[in-house]
Amino acid sequence: MPTALSTDGARVRVRLHTAQGDIDLGRADVARRDKRLTRGERDAIDSLVEAIRLLRTRNQLLGIDDVGTGVALLLRDAEATSGGPYATSGQIAVGATNALTSRSKVRANPNVLLPVDTAVHELTHVTQFARMPETVTPNSAIMEGIADAAAMLATGDDTLGEGYFRTDATGAHRGSIRDLGRHDVHGPAVGPTSRTYAAATAPGVEPHEAGGLVSTFVAALRASVGRARAERVLWAVIRDSSAWKTGGSWALLAAAFQRAGNTDDATGAAVSAALAQTGLAAALR
Ligand SMILES: [Zn+2]
Repeated sequence: MPTALSTDGARVRVRLHTAQGDIDLGRADVARRDKRLTRGERDAIDSLVEAIRLLRTRNQLLGIDDVGTGVALLLRDAEATSGGPYATSGQIAVGATNALTSRSKVRANPNVLLPVDTAVHELTHVTQFARMPETVTPNSAIMEGIADAAAMLATGDDTLGEGYFRTDATGAHRGSIRDLGRHDVHGPAVGPTSRTYAAATAPGVEPHEAGGLVSTFVAALRASVGRARAERVLWAVIRDSSAWKTGGSWALLAAAFQRAGNTDDATGAAVSAALAQTGLAAALR
């Protein structure tokens, strides 16, 4: 039987940044045996393969654009070393060390480069970019919120990026990037999250913070119809090209959630309730 590494690892092409330029290390199962790589880099490859497996098995995602296209993983990227992993069209870049170590030496684990939830988040961005015209400017807050919500549902865990932090005696992580559906599962989160449309659209709100509106909306949906159905609705929205043709807006997002909820009365009612609860309904007016 093929292992997850051979089926899903075949969709990952690993590249290593060096002073002499980027070196192609081949597909994931070959690359992870390369002697130049650190333990943290092998773990990053495994996280991305697991993220692909989660999205394939839970959401029938056939590659990043649903036609089997793969994704590149760039290791030792300088920008990611200082700012954390990031996605571009067709690629996820990770740094040489955990970028959070510089601001939290005691709590952060320097060797963690890409936990599984963060890999799902970045992979969702790659999927989003694949569905957007190249000429538009993506709405960052909506992009971040969708990526967080996808990670939350795929992993079944409401905290993003706790894997970057060391654990305490009870096994809880000593911090996280963001609390999504539920609060304060681990130590303090690095950044806050908006919970309402009014908070998310207030002047000067940072995009990841504003994106909290989307994960809050999806968590409300999950509370009504369950994780699996909430996830089907979310991925219907991600795949709804009319929601992304301009790069995304709150009005287009709210309308896409309504369309995705049209499958049955219970889901439609849950979407309406979540729109009212978060205030996102105001975007439709
Ligand atoms: Zn992001």
